[in-house]
Amino acid sequence: MAHDPKTSDAPKPSNFLRGIIERDLEAGTWTPRRWGGSPGDGAHHLAGAPDPARIRTRFPPEPNGYLHVGHAKSICLNFGLARDYGGVCHLRFDDTNPEREEQEYVDAIIEAVRWLGFDWQAHGSSHLYYASGYFDFMVRAAEALIDAGLAYVDEQSADEMRAHRGDFNTPGRNSPFRSRTPAENRARFAEMRSGRLADGAAVLRAKIDMASPNINLRDPALYRIKHATHHATGDKWCIYPMYTYAHPIEDALENITHSICTLEFEDQRPFYDWLLEQLATLGLLARPTPKQHEFGRLNLSYVITSKRKLKALVDEKIVDGWDDPRMPTIFGMRRRGYTPESIRAMADGSGASKTNIWLDYSVLEGCLRDDLEGKAARAMAVLDPIELRLTNWDESFGAGHIEPCHAPAHPQRPELGTRAFGLGPRLWIERDDFAELPAKGFFRLFPPRTLPDGSVVPGNRVRLKYGLVVECTGCEKDVDGQVTAVLATVVPDTRSGTPGADAVKVKGTISWVGMHDALAATVNLYDRLFTEAQPDAGGRDFREVLNPHSKRVVAAYVEPSLAHVAPETRLQFERHGYFVADRVQHRPEAPVFNRITTLKDSWAR
Ligand code: ATP
Ligand code: MG
Repeated sequence: MAHDPKTSDAPKPSNFLRGIIERDLEAGTWTPRRWGGSPGDGAHHLAGAPDPARIRTRFPPEPNGYLHVGHAKSICLNFGLARDYGGVCHLRFDDTNPEREEQEYVDAIIEAVRWLGFDWQAHGSSHLYYASGYFDFMVRAAEALIDAGLAYVDEQSADEMRAHRGDFNTPGRNSPFRSRTPAENRARFAEMRSGRLADGAAVLRAKIDMASPNINLRDPALYRIKHATHHATGDKWCIYPMYTYAHPIEDALENITHSICTLEFEDQRPFYDWLLEQLATLGLLARPTPKQHEFGRLNLSYVITSKRKLKALVDEKIVDGWDDPRMPTIFGMRRRGYTPESIRAMADGSGASKTNIWLDYSVLEGCLRDDLEGKAARAMAVLDPIELRLTNWDESFGAGHIEPCHAPAHPQRPELGTRAFGLGPRLWIERDDFAELPAKGFFRLFPPRTLPDGSVVPGNRVRLKYGLVVECTGCEKDVDGQVTAVLATVVPDTRSGTPGADAVKVKGTISWVGMHDALAATVNLYDRLFTEAQPDAGGRDFREVLNPHSKRVVAAYVEPSLAHVAPETRLQFERHGYFVADRVQHRPEAPVFNRITTLKDSWAR
């Protein structure tokens, strides 16, 4: 049976981050740290007790959209490492950019992380934090840098600044404002804060080295003017910290030990270290300061994970919202039917490495099957129904008779009980379980044939699963030649579970539901959203490679045992795959199921 990757003590695949943490723990790198009971500056933490968390990690989303499968990877990694090494993982909203952030996203992110199975309660407190809660400290730190001659207010235009920055081959040139005194800089920074300057009129920059081979060290911007209302701090501020300045400070105030981020931040690490070193030297932060470690992004084939592009899919109504079951958002995957366990298994199984990885979508499907194989109740469903009429029913059983049938809810788990349904003279079967002219190797229903020598080959016999054997005798067609019903006769004494059941050998078994007791259901058959494995590769517009068949809605029939399943119940429809009762639309009187994934082994023979 599938194990729960969150609680199981099965060994986790090793990765370089585990290696770093294990070496740190062995060396006692982080033992000197003290924790003031909440995020704070150096003095606050030094006044506290030794940090009860052996390590601290964080998941730091910007609340500017819904989380997707790439974020799930980062969540599982950060929360998972903290859990495995006696640490704590913080959920921190990196809400330093007032223009793109909304409360709606904050709420959705909290719900998504919880749903994935993680929480941020530890040592008696909640470790959910907002970067905007640190704005006061960030200004104080900026002023300390100014006083130490390590920051200045630059009033060049954006174009001048760009021209002075140089490029990979050319060193930058100093700004004419670079030699301002600390007192002048303090006054100009106060002016920036006062609200009297327009957006872009001035920026606060670190004073490092305009000739550095790393462009990120050529006096990076720390603060900019932005007259904008912030979702949490309202109109209190008109200057906002740059991400590269804010992020290391957020980590340090929260006593983070391992600040794990994706590879594109590698070039920022020297500035991360520079900034924290200066602020520790100035006495604002406690040592040891956090260390940044980069790992490769997770990409899934046939999936895009850029928030901007996902938003375009929603805004342009290519999908039905952020939780459309085809979306790689955590809400979309949830609605599709993926379990938290399957997503965690995929994330854990994909490890962490120093290169961006492409994971085949089938890996996620495999994780889902592994999880549900042992858990999901079985049911019969007919997705493309055609009538099967048993023409000798009345002679065999008597008119109006319904033969009671039973099946285990799960073949290996008797404790889940049995399903009951009735076999009658009129059934729904899959249209493709009948072939008027069978291809070679087709073992399901086909009618009798007369050979050229005049002899007759009888129609084929199949077992109706959990029922009995029937022999095909023909079909009915409409004026267009479309088959409207398949005809068959009951073969006597072949009832499943009776001594005679095996007397008649058949090569095919088909699923069915009884017309008298089946429930009509809407079934959404989802497929990948794109026809190319890397939809936006090489700058291609993903709209060019949309799969026109990514959603097919069919009117299906399901067995009566599903009359009372709750939304989000996951099932295996025998031979079709795993399905979930849609968490939004499913009603007992109007069932709606989404296909999560097909079964690995193909049923058709
Ligand atoms: P964008 O830059 O499009 O807004 P982002 O993916 O950088 O999106 P954040 O909210 O900053 O969004 O991400 C939060 C965390 O999730 C970051 O630490 C980021 O590195 C991580 N993350 C995002 N996408 C992936 C991915 N595909 N694989 C692994 N980690 C990811
Ligand atoms: Mg980002």
